[in-house]
Amino acid sequence: MENVRFRGEDFRMGTRVLAAGQRLGPPQLALAAAAGRAELRVHRKVRVVVASSGDELRSPGAPLAPGQIHDSNSVLLSTLFRSAGAEVIHVPTLPDQLEATMAGLELALSQADLVITAGGASVGDRDFLRPAWERLGGRLDFFKVAIKPGKPVFFGTLRGGYLIGLPGNPVSAFVTAVLMALPALRRLQGSAEVGLPATVGTLSVPLSNPGLRRHFMRVILDESGQVRSAGVQASHILLSMARSNGLVDVPPSTEWPAGTPVRVLRWPGV
Ligand code: AMP
Ligand code: MG
Repeated sequence: MENVRFRGEDFRMGTRVLAAGQRLGPPQLALAAAAGRAELRVHRKVRVVVASSGDELRSPGAPLAPGQIHDSNSVLLSTLFRSAGAEVIHVPTLPDQLEATMAGLELALSQADLVITAGGASVGDRDFLRPAWERLGGRLDFFKVAIKPGKPVFFGTLRGGYLIGLPGNPVSAFVTAVLMALPALRRLQGSAEVGLPATVGTLSVPLSNPGLRRHFMRVILDESGQVRSAGVQASHILLSMARSNGLVDVPPSTEWPAGTPVRVLRWPGV
């Protein structure tokens, strides 16, 4: 009888095999299929507008004049949200001008459940996201979070839509997107699992945060569980972000020697 599978060994009539809010990957879909279900009720795709902000931005591939840079945040954020299951809508770059930013946000809100902007979120005289949002009558739920990178991040609500204003530096944009915007997207998707996957590892070199804010540091976690800094931690350094596979949340005024156990929040999809 070794080669016989008995009825009900996997699950029985009445067993709840999937729960509301569960994400459906290959095993969950196969389970539904094995239970005889050809159709499942799922949440509709969440529409996300990704908008970069800044007169200095040019599309990747376009020639650059002095003072201009390529827009890397649009690629960064649209691929992040698309791979998380959102329908991503692009809008033109928001210029450094109040009325045009208001018009851009209006357009974005009319198309999306969640608007994600990058840049112009701080308090400089060329930062128009927050003033534009407030002039439109948007509610500001929070502005500024005591973390590094990514302090000038804000969250707002208007007419049933949501805006998350991310900072412009690409590493700040990605860290805040992953820590705050991705969980928001998952909630809108009806998902019960909103956190990042985490793995416990051991520092192979010291890691320190002399600052006064929590520092989410880019690290490389290797297959044997050893963790080291991925390189320069400044918020414009994409190279160390692209080499890293996650973040370690280092508390303020902290020096950790090699050998310290740490929790690595792994980038989604890496
Ligand atoms: P901001 O918050 O708009 O002052 O932007 C902070 C820094 O990030 C500036 O050096 C910007 O040029 C840069 N930055 C803003 N948006 C982008 C983007 N979409 N791609 C690459 N760098 C950006
Ligand atoms: Mg700017």
